[in-house]
Amino acid sequence: MSGDDAASAAAPVFVRLGGHAFMAAVDGVAPLNVGLVVGAHHAVLVDPGSADGDVEPLLAAVAAITEAPLTVVCTHGHADHTGAVPTLAARGAEIIAHRDAGVAEATRTVGDEPLRLDLGGVVVHVEHLGRGHTAADLVIGVAGGEDSGEAAGDEVPDVLFCGDLVREGTDPRFRDSYPQDWVRTLGRIRAAAGEGAIVVPGHGRPVDAEFVAAMRRRMQQGHQLSRDAIREAVGDATKAIPIIPYGPEESRELITRMRSGH
Ligand SMILES: [Zn+2]
Repeated sequence: MSGDDAASAAAPVFVRLGGHAFMAAVDGVAPLNVGLVVGAHHAVLVDPGSADGDVEPLLAAVAAITEAPLTVVCTHGHADHTGAVPTLAARGAEIIAHRDAGVAEATRTVGDEPLRLDLGGVVVHVEHLGRGHTAADLVIGVAGGEDSGEAAGDEVPDVLFCGDLVREGTDPRFRDSYPQDWVRTLGRIRAAAGEGAIVVPGHGRPVDAEFVAAMRRRMQQGHQLSRDAIREAVGDATKAIPIIPYGPEESRELITRMRSGH
C-alpha cells in the first residue's frame, strides 16, 4: 500500500460532541459527518457514508466506543450519506429512513410522526421537520443523559444531526431541493435547537442555532432574488446568478428548482 492509499484509507475517528453524542468526518474532499449516539443498551449511527465499499474501518471506530447493537438512521437518501447502508443491513443492522428517501434497506420508516428511541440513558428523536434539501429529510435530536442536569421528561435536544439541511463551509445544494419549504424547515430547526445546542451539518464543522438562523435568512434572500428574477426575466433568469448569495453552480440549481415549481 502506498502512502497515498494509506491516507485515503485512514480509519474514521469519532470525537465527542458532548454527553452521549459523537461525530467523525469521513471521506475525501467535502468530508461527510457521521454521527454516533451511545446509550447503555443501544447505539445509533447517523449517516454511515459511502465507506468506499468497506465498512470495516467505520465499524472498528464504532467498536472502540461501544459494543451496543447499532441502529442506522439516514438523514436523507443521497449516496454519499447512505452508500454503506446495504452492507450494514446485510450484517443485521436496523435501518431507519424517511419513507420517501428511497432507502430500499430501511427496516423502519418515518413519515409525519416522529420516532422516539430510548437508547438507555439517552433519548433520540428522529423527525421530518419539512422538506428542504430533499423531499425526505430527517433531523436526529439527541436529548438528555444522566449528566445533562435536565428534569425527567425534558427532552430538548443538546445535539441535532441535520444532514444536508444544514451545511457549513460550502453552499447548500439545491439539486433535489424544495427551496421555499427549506426556509421554513430551517426555522423549525432553529426553534428546536435549545440554548447552547450543537447543530451538526452534513458537511462542515458543527455550528449553533444562530448559524441556522443566518443560513435561513440568506436562503430567504436567495429565494426572493430568484423569484423576482424568474418573474422579471422570463427569458433568462440566470442573469440573476451574480446577485444570488451563493456560488454560480448552487445559484443555477436554485433557479432551476424554483422554475420547475419548487
Ligand atoms: Zn445530500
